[in-house]
Amino acid sequence: MDLKGWVRTSLVDYPEHIATVLFTGGCNFRCPMCHNADLVTRPQELPTLPEEEVWKFLGRRVGLIEGVVITGGEPTLQPTLLSFLRRLRESDLAMKVKLDTNGYRPDVLAAVLDERLVDYVAMDIKAPPGKYALLAGRDGLDVGRVARSIALLRDGEGTYEFRTTVVPGLLVEQDVGEIARWIEGAERYVLQQFRPQGTLDPGLEAVSPCSRDHLQQMAMRAEQWVQHVALRGL
Ligand code: SF4
Repeated sequence: MDLKGWVRTSLVDYPEHIATVLFTGGCNFRCPMCHNADLVTRPQELPTLPEEEVWKFLGRRVGLIEGVVITGGEPTLQPTLLSFLRRLRESDLAMKVKLDTNGYRPDVLAAVLDERLVDYVAMDIKAPPGKYALLAGRDGLDVGRVARSIALLRDGEGTYEFRTTVVPGLLVEQDVGEIARWIEGAERYVLQQFRPQGTLDPGLEAVSPCSRDHLQQMAMRAEQWVQHVALRGL
């Protein structure tokens, strides 16, 4: 895979597990609130990590590292994603695997789920359908592809979360309610606090995050449609 970044040990990227985090280069979205601008806009200028170095590291950390997180960028753009995941599954590492995705390639997600190649999927829901282009930074976007990924996860048997970064000024409480209605019946929905540092759109660096009270109010609204709503990053 085109690996452009690596956090060897993380306590926060895989719920309840110590994980290593692999960042793939390139993305099909240009979210204004993205914190991985280099990965998204100029991955070809970043050095590629030798994959074998990762495998050696994992081999030496059996029993210590519990999970592998594949994030990006957008991992489903990687032509070798499935073969990488199969190798993880077939290895003796016995590590859990989490995939982070924006859900814009439902066919790839379906293949991953069909083969049960991951233990956990975290899928971003950027906005309600009518605002998706704005929050994903892409004109002419086919929201139906996001909807297909939502259905794949919600109607499937795997463990997953949907998550939204609440960007003040771009998303309001009503939008969060609309998203929750869109994903109605989902097991878990996470509202993530916005961090104004190093955003793809520099204009967002002047935006203050929501207060805890306001996020809690949004969570209560979302609970009308989703079983468990959690806050993250406060
Ligand atoms: S935040 Fe948006 S632009 Fe950044 S990696 Fe995720 S989907 Fe791509």
